[in-house]
Amino acid sequence: MPSLTASRAGDRHLCLLMMTAAHGAQVGASPRRWCSVCGFAAPYRCVRCGSRFCTRKCYGVHTETRCLKFVG
Ligand SMILES: [Zn+2]
Ligand SMILES: [Zn+2]
Repeated sequence: MPSLTASRAGDRHLCLLMMTAAHGAQVGASPRRWCSVCGFAAPYRCVRCGSRFCTRKCYGVHTETRCLKFVG
């Protein structure tokens, strides 16, 4: 059954394409993150407004001067 074999091959090919697309999406969904206070690489994020910051010091400056959402 040549047609059946071709169908299975097509399914595998489609699966590989989907996996590649998913992998590419993950890579593309990771934008460069910079501190909103000093502009340095920022691995952390403000839990209130989502702004990026690099250290607790910058986070403190952010919450006191730049945070968009103050609780209370
Ligand atoms: Zn910073
Ligand atoms: Zn904030």
